[in-house]
Amino acid sequence: MSCVKCHKTTRNSVSISCSLCNAEFHSTCVNLKAEEVNFFRESSETKWKCEVCTVATPTSDCLSPSDLQRIAATVKDLLTTEIAKLIQTELAPIRNELSELKVSVNFLSNEFDTFKKDLTSHKSEIETLKREIAEGIGQRQKGWKNWETGKNGEKDNEKEERKEIDEEGRNVRIGWRRRVKGRSV
Ligand SMILES: [Zn+2]
Ligand SMILES: [Zn+2]
Repeated sequence: MSCVKCHKTTRNSVSISCSLCNAEFHSTCVNLKAEEVNFFRESSETKWKCEVCTVATPTSDCLSPSDLQRIAATVKDLLTTEIAKLIQTELAPIRNELSELKVSVNFLSNEFDTFKKDLTSHKSEIETLKREIAEGIGQRQKGWKNWETGKNGEKDNEKEERKEIDEEGRNVRIGWRRRVKGRSV
């Protein structure tokens, strides 16, 4: 094998191969001490990457689990803080609006109850009025009937009176005739 950097053989030198592309390097060509090379060889968590692979994959491949835990904890803290802030700034006005809405809904509900009560009492008033009007009409009709009967009664009286008047007229005429006869005699 030859070093990717200097293109010379790695056979008799301390060398290291990239954990991603397997390219081999002299430890001196990638500025690693012999102990560092040993560390990377023995570590199961931390793998060495060549320059090209480090640039190409700069993310979590080069992070240790403890790094990840630290980052996760930081992100969690940040999120908790941000969410708390969001709740304070965004949700608080909404909560206020909701409680205002609740107040007006309660108000409307009370108004509706009052309206319903009023309506019920108006309805019963109307029922009473209707009954009274019906009774009034009944009485008036009875009155009319009485008046009609009274009128007919009067008519009978008139007939009687006329009969009397006719009778008198006849008597007067008879008297006149007698008197006229008496004179002519
Ligand atoms: Zn080299
Ligand atoms: Zn590589």
